Formats: sequence, C-alpha cells, structure tokens
Amino acid sequence: QTIQQIKEKDEKVKGFITVDEDEARKQAQIIQKGIEKGELTGPLAGVPIAIKDNIDTKGIKTTCASKILYNFVPTFDATAVKNLKEAGAIIVGKTNMDEFAMGSTSETSAFATTRNPWDLTKVPGGSSGGTCAVVASGQVSCGLGSDTGGSIRQPSSYCGVTGIKPTYGTVSRYGLIAYGSSLDQIGPVARNVADCATILETISSYDRFDSTSMKRDKYDFTSALDKDVKGMRIGIPKEYLEKGIDDEVKEAVLKAAQIMKDKGAKVEEFSLDLVDYAIPAYYIIACAEASSNLARFDGVKYGYRSKEYEGLHEMYKKSRSEGFGDEVKRRIMLGSFVLSSGYYDAYYLKALKVKRLIKEAYDKAFEKYDLILGPVAPTTAPTIGESLKDPLKMYLSDIYTISVNLAGLPAISLPCALDKNKMPIGVQFIANCFEENKMIAAGQTLE
Ligand code: GLN
Repeated sequence: QTIQQIKEKDEKVKGFITVDEDEARKQAQIIQKGIEKGELTGPLAGVPIAIKDNIDTKGIKTTCASKILYNFVPTFDATAVKNLKEAGAIIVGKTNMDEFAMGSTSETSAFATTRNPWDLTKVPGGSSGGTCAVVASGQVSCGLGSDTGGSIRQPSSYCGVTGIKPTYGTVSRYGLIAYGSSLDQIGPVARNVADCATILETISSYDRFDSTSMKRDKYDFTSALDKDVKGMRIGIPKEYLEKGIDDEVKEAVLKAAQIMKDKGAKVEEFSLDLVDYAIPAYYIIACAEASSNLARFDGVKYGYRSKEYEGLHEMYKKSRSEGFGDEVKRRIMLGSFVLSSGYYDAYYLKALKVKRLIKEAYDKAFEKYDLILGPVAPTTAPTIGESLKDPLKMYLSDIYTISVNLAGLPAISLPCALDKNKMPIGVQFIANCFEENKMIAAGQTLE
C-alpha cells in the first residue's frame, strides 16, 4: 500500500531518490513473522519509514544526493537505522536532499529537485527536504533527517510537519555520512509530536562506534507527551523579531506565545547576545569540517571515478571536479582556506571562540527560562530557483537555527496554525541540553 502511495504521489513531489520495493517487501515479511510470534510488539512494528540519503542503509544505495556517491551501496546500517529495524520499522526508501546536506532548499541535489507538496512551484526546504516532503504529502508517516544547521527544522517548517533535532550526542552518528561532525545530529520527522517522540526514543542510544555518543540515564521521550506547560518559563529572543523577519512568521511566533500563556506558561522577551555572529561562525566551522570530511571521496575507495586521467593525481583531481557539485566545491574551498596556515587563527580559531560564547549566552538564558521560543526561518518556502542565484542570501536564512547546533542544544520545529490556503509556518522550541522532554511537552500543547 505504501509503495503504491509513493508511486502515485512521488511523481510530482520527487522526494525519493531510491525506493527499493524488493528490500521493503523482504523486511516486511520478516517483521510480519516477528509480529505473529509476538516478538515485535512496539509502536514501530510494521511502520514504513523514509531515510535521508546521507544515512547508511545496508544493501540500499546511499548517495548523499551526489554524483560522487551515485553507486555507493553500504555494507552496514547506521546505528539509528539498525535501532529502527530492531523495533520493526520498514525502510521503504531513501530521500532527496541537498548534496552532502549543504544547502537549505534541496536544490543542490545532483539527481532531482524535490517540490513542496503544498505548492509544487516552491522548494521543500533543506537539506532534509525529501524526507519532509514525503511525510507532508502522506507517502509515509515518518522519516529520518539530519540537522547540522537546521536541516531537519527548516524543511519541517516549510512543509508543515514536525521535526526534532536532539541534543548533540543523543543519536549515534555512526553511519551518518559526515558534513560538520561537531554539529551533525540525526533526528525524526513526522506529522505530530507524539510520533517524533516515539521515533526519537527508538533511534537514541549510546554507541561505542561514535566517539561523541553520550550515555544518558534513560532514553525516554514519550512520557513527556502527557505533561503540560503550566508554570513553564519561556523566553523569546527579541532580536529574532526585530529585523529581517516576515510579518506572517512573526505573527505565528506571537500566536504560539499567546497559546503558551493561555495554557499557563510565563512568556517574555529577552536579549540573546551574539545573534549576529552565529552565521559567520557556523559557516567557518561547518565548511572547515566538511573540507576535511570530504577528503575521503577521491575516486579510489568508493563512488565515482573519472573515465580519463593520467596518473594518480589527475585521477583524484578529475574525479573530485566531476563528482562534486558547485555548492560542495565552494564549501571545500572555503573550509580549506580557513584551515590553512596563516588563516587558521584569524578565522577558524576565532569561530570556535564565538561558538563558546554562544553556548555561554544560551547557558545564561537557561538559568532564567525552561524553553526558548522562536521562528525557524525568516520566511515561508521560497520559489524554486530563487535561492540558487544568491548563496549568501541562502546562508543568511539559517539565522534562527544554526546557533542551536553550535551550542549542541535540542530543538523541535512544528507548524503553527496550518491554513490550507497558505504556505505552512513553523515555530521552534529550544531546550537546554538533555531537556528534550520540556520541548516535547510544549510542542504537544501547541498542536
Ligand atoms: N543550511 C545549512 C547549511 O547549508 C544547514 C544544513 C544542514 O543542517 N545540513 O549548512
């Protein structure tokens, strides 16, 4: 049934890169037996799920939406995928994204342009645009994305679905093809907070294969679903509502604030320092890490190799020049530059110091507040083609999401007052490290 649904709906939306019908059927049969024997009893048993194409899936092509990995078939599952399979979920396919998760519209994919199901002339957001679009169009009820600087939250906002970026270290990065390793986290996308919490509970685990994996006391996110927000202190960074934000987005945030107040939370505005420095710091750190992470794609070990070359060096050069797209090349160059001798101190080291200061600004805010409420993106989804013309403008649109990754914090993005005749608008709740349950409770209240 799901496969049928995908065949019908994805022709227009183009959210999937790969749908492996045989593999899905094979998994479904095994799971069916497990359910019959009473071995699989959890809420995800038999649930079809879509996985972003930068997360390794054993036996299913994983391309990162890049020509350089066009034929790469992993020999193992990412830990998050392994956890899902053990819970009985069925991997139906791999979703489109910005190449190597670099972008905010899913247009830098080497394979397809995914469309926003609410209006096919608009982008779904990015980089997890494929996952959000296939969930929003009802092809599957849930999926996984990855968030380095907003890539789960921003497309969730554009597509009117719910997405969670967990505290750094909560979901193993083993098998997530790295972009900015110190920022990357896998997280769930679904049509409501309860489904997201259930998936998050399943994919989170301590993993010795990820050196940044954190052992948490317990991985319980669903018990927050019946909590309310009475007495919660919620702060709204006033800088977020001052400039560069569309009126309708601002209204959505204020509406969410009013709902929280009505439910008994205390909401006020406060000043969050350093907002202006988040974008430069993020792009320096993310590109620096990307330039190092992407060095492994050289045409030797896996993926694309140029057809004609003389000698090893030319093979590297041609494979990489032909295999990577423009945005990825731009970032590798930027990253190599900020790490090069003479510039390391001036850019990279300075960006790390800013990162530290941003974390301290959040620490200070969380002394006063349980949660921070804010917009996800300054506008609703732009028209296809608009953002590619001006990469700098695209970078600036990440303003509300990236500082969360720099500080390692969890955040949830969810639609505020969906209106069939308008493009969806998301708002986000940001919590202190390990306090996902507070934002899950608040998110549930807003639904
Ligand atoms: N838009 C941001 C970037 O291009 C975030 C991407 C992400 O979170 N993967 O870096």
